[in-house]
Amino acid sequence: MTDSTTPLKIDTDRTTMYVNGAWRPSHGQDRMHEINPATEEVIGFTPDGDAEDIDAAVQAARAALREWAGLTPVQRSAFLVAMADRLDQRADQAARLVTSENGVPLATSAAMVESASGVLRYYASLAETFPFEEARGTTVVRQEPIGVAGLILPWNGPLNLAYMKIAPALLAGCTTVLKPAPETSLSTAFIADAAEAAALPAGVINIVTGGREAGAALVTHAGVDKIAFTGSTAAGRAIAAQCGQAMKPGTFELGGKSASILLDDADLDVFLAQIIDVSLAGSGQSCKLSTRILVASDRYDEVCDALRNTLSPLVVGDPFDPATDFGPLAIERQRDRVEQYIRSGLEQGAKLLMGGGRPTHLPKGYYVEPTVFVGVENWMRIAQEEIFGPVLAVIPFDSDDDAVTLANDSAYGLGGAVYTTDTERGTNIARRVQTGTIGINGYRIDPLAPFGGYKQSGLGRELGPEGLAAYLQNKSIYHAVP
Ligand code: NAD
Repeated sequence: MTDSTTPLKIDTDRTTMYVNGAWRPSHGQDRMHEINPATEEVIGFTPDGDAEDIDAAVQAARAALREWAGLTPVQRSAFLVAMADRLDQRADQAARLVTSENGVPLATSAAMVESASGVLRYYASLAETFPFEEARGTTVVRQEPIGVAGLILPWNGPLNLAYMKIAPALLAGCTTVLKPAPETSLSTAFIADAAEAAALPAGVINIVTGGREAGAALVTHAGVDKIAFTGSTAAGRAIAAQCGQAMKPGTFELGGKSASILLDDADLDVFLAQIIDVSLAGSGQSCKLSTRILVASDRYDEVCDALRNTLSPLVVGDPFDPATDFGPLAIERQRDRVEQYIRSGLEQGAKLLMGGGRPTHLPKGYYVEPTVFVGVENWMRIAQEEIFGPVLAVIPFDSDDDAVTLANDSAYGLGGAVYTTDTERGTNIARRVQTGTIGINGYRIDPLAPFGGYKQSGLGRELGPEGLAAYLQNKSIYHAVP
């Protein structure tokens, strides 16, 4: 066990996987490297796990299942709290590693780590109140753990997105095999560290690093009873098809192209104060962001001017510098993708209000300037497809009905916001937008409430009691009345 008062020693030249409560040599001989996207320097290596690595982890998770599922929810919740305590002690160090891995500004990675421990504590708090077993007439309805959960993660929020899955899975009584994204595998050491500090029974959390091969082996393993995936819609669709073949339940948090709707009576200062959080956090690399800005047409020019005035002075640069607002994109191929979308916007006739290139003062790092397109029509690719970068499309509308039609003219439905000084009008519009979550005069993910998508944004929900239910299955025990 490691001491909480000294920093965790991170093995950046890793040849091991966290399986059955210990770091064990990987079966696969190949390794992946991680790159700091701000400096383009290699920061470490992790094993590229193969099907045998996945099998060893699944066996460990299966072996741990009976004991773990046999504990009461209250007993399990104590482990969640102990893990949160440890993560809090390591928060600064964990945030720094996440920033080195994916380039989000340090304040953002710190908020992500804080939300990770908040989610652990939230689920621990449900242990006393969630109806794991209730009588309905003469039938007892039980909620039983699904079994071994395979958790597949993206690179944009390695710890917070992991704990959105781990916390409800563990409280439910499931055991887990985690497959992080290749780009952000080093930081999973903080999950193993928290498990050890909490004296979590061996095999309840296992971590296999690797790419698609390892992910696919996890999805198709007969010993895995449920998959929870966050990532692209394309990968989610492929995984969901495999889950369907095996009749395996899945939770899928996929892409988004959400809309912020500024009504004619909106308070522009309220909108602008939240523009980074709601539309550009992590340089746009978050599925929930409102990257389409729908504006009442009589305020279009005013909003465009205000956007330019607000965003132009913001700082793009070193994510460790507290003055920085926008770090680099996490991966070189992600920058390529974003630049392709910027080109497609221009080719399809949209105009740049600002940005569109690489910042000239940053010769190293995968940086893209905050970019705002005007003259956008909703059929254009930059309005329809998830860019996952700091690129906004500003689109005018003529009436509330028109705004709803535009917001709903999307394959996705994950987040969104309505800005207005008339809350009732805003709420009525929110009711009509086809999306899993939406805010009035702002937007944030609330751990107490379900988060997830309509349409191509996913299946199932995380967070809230609904996120716990996603790791449980119902059993009705009927008692015959003599
Ligand atoms: P991806 O969906 O390909 O990868 C996400 C995770 O799934 C990784 O751990 C990966 O190894 C694994 N994976 C991929 N294909 C798999 C398969 N067939 N079976 C099992 N596991 C598989 O994402 P990416 O290629 O890293 O990013 C591409 C795009 O995805 C981005 O440009 C962005 O639009 C989107 N994205 C969305 C989110 C989100 O939070 N919804 C997060 C990251 C990326």
